[in-house]
Amino acid sequence: MEQKVKTDVFKGVIASSGIAIGKIYLIEEEEYCIVPKKIQKQNIKKETERFKIAVSKVKEELINAKKEIIKIFGKAHTLLADAHILMLEDPLLDRDVIRKIVEENVNAEYALWTTIEKVVLSFEKIDDEYFRERKNDIQEIGKRIMRQLTSNKRRSITDAPNDAIVVSHNLGPSDTVKLKERMVAGFVTDVGGRTSHIALFAQDLDIPAVVGLKNITGVTNHEDVIIVDGNQGIVIINPDEQTLENYRRECDIQINEKKELQKLRDLPAQTKDGHRVTLACNIDTPEEMKAIINSGAEGIGLFRTEFIFLRENRMPTEDEQYEVCRDIVHKMLPYSVIIRTLDLGGDKVMHLGLEGFNPESNPFLGLRAIRLCLKYPEMFKTQLRAILRASKEGKVKIMFPMISSVSEFQMAKRLLETAKQELRTRNVEFDEKIEVGAMIEIPSAALTSDIIAKEADFLSIGTNDLIQYTFAIDRMNETVAYMYEPLHLSVLRLLKHIIDAGHNAGKWVGMCGEMAADISFTSVLLGMGLDEFSVPPSAVPRIKKVIRNISIEEAKDLAREVLNNNDKDSILNVIRKSQLV
Ligand code: PEP
Ligand code: MG
Repeated sequence: MEQKVKTDVFKGVIASSGIAIGKIYLIEEEEYCIVPKKIQKQNIKKETERFKIAVSKVKEELINAKKEIIKIFGKAHTLLADAHILMLEDPLLDRDVIRKIVEENVNAEYALWTTIEKVVLSFEKIDDEYFRERKNDIQEIGKRIMRQLTSNKRRSITDAPNDAIVVSHNLGPSDTVKLKERMVAGFVTDVGGRTSHIALFAQDLDIPAVVGLKNITGVTNHEDVIIVDGNQGIVIINPDEQTLENYRRECDIQINEKKELQKLRDLPAQTKDGHRVTLACNIDTPEEMKAIINSGAEGIGLFRTEFIFLRENRMPTEDEQYEVCRDIVHKMLPYSVIIRTLDLGGDKVMHLGLEGFNPESNPFLGLRAIRLCLKYPEMFKTQLRAILRASKEGKVKIMFPMISSVSEFQMAKRLLETAKQELRTRNVEFDEKIEVGAMIEIPSAALTSDIIAKEADFLSIGTNDLIQYTFAIDRMNETVAYMYEPLHLSVLRLLKHIIDAGHNAGKWVGMCGEMAADISFTSVLLGMGLDEFSVPPSAVPRIKKVIRNISIEEAKDLAREVLNNNDKDSILNVIRKSQLV
């Protein structure tokens, strides 16, 4: 067999932070040479049966995997197994494959593969992370059925030695259980994104992982030495002695740091001189709850509800939305959860069947988030009623995304009042005093935040969008990513203006954009007066450490000095200097 290229560094997507060094346990993809074979008329029934048996075997495998997942990770983690089971049960899969076998007189393998390819192709046309992930799921399901049809076996994680690093094209639900059983040190995959299920599993297992490496399985050999650098999203194959030595040292530092940070878990996010802030988490899907609770966060500062609208091919009902919110709110007690209303637009809402909604050429500047909700008040009120009902089960606050003016915020609040009235008519209880906040993430809202703050109970700064709209750069476009500049004076002035505006109106101000999670900005934001930091669970201990190591006066001095500089380099110098002392 041809020796694969020995190479150095590959860049992928960070799935779970940390560094792992070990030997590769390579799970190579089977190469299927799928050619149509003619099936005699009298054998057609046997062929369709063969397909059905293969599907039922895969289903059995998945049901067993699901049981194991519940035992090991808990119920919240069955989403991937459930999704795969649902795909297997989809009558379209059965119908299309069987129709092909019967009508075209072809073998089950060919009928299956061409059907899967058609679905994959249709998903490829949609440029969206969610659909890219679903495409990977469909391919994974196809391969599983194919393995049954061809009795093909691939290397199994069950045989992976402890401390190995798994290199694989993708990982399915049963693989994730085995990763835990085998105590592998880390994993890397060809596919997967930042929010893919495998990435979330890796975070939960607390093992370093890099995904989305495109063809790492094609350029590595079984038992090659590999470094997985989950902090930078890179992997190094067969590193030289010096690189290995450096990484080993870094590994030791990280282990010690982790131990130190763990000690902070139950301590307050409070400065040396007793100034207390709230350190909360962002949540995108329920699977993240365990990590959030373990992080020591005091609440959820941003619950992105979009996944409830994306997980099925239809509009979710009030009850379905209520159940999701209720579970998260319950689990977070005694802390509060800020639930953000729907922030979607463009092709992501095509499946919701909204009357008169047309594709747009620039959805990010189109009918999205609060604009969409105001245009479709019934959809909006359904979500609001679901959130209001959940408010009876714990501590809930509501937040409207992409507010551009006070009148828009007032319109949203009027619909909230109507939703409350509808619940009163139904005799359904909710928190009558529920707080309502505005996300400040559009420059027009930032510059009028003094007026919005009078109408809101709190403000939450969405720096991801605020920065993108301040510089007119698409935050997903890598070619202009270099312009994404949180420390640009324009951004810092906007932040200071928003925080002051909130405080002058007697309201608290939080931040849930990624800027809140970067420790280089923590002291400056603290000094500007930020009251709440909402960050991914992995960032909680690091941010807490910075807060606990500075006094509020030192932070205020730093913020003042930073705002007195007018270029990024001198601002960076001021910050660096402050971190050295
Ligand atoms: C933001 O824009 O900063 C934010 C937190 O919202 P999202 O990333 O969901 O747009
Ligand atoms: Mg945003």
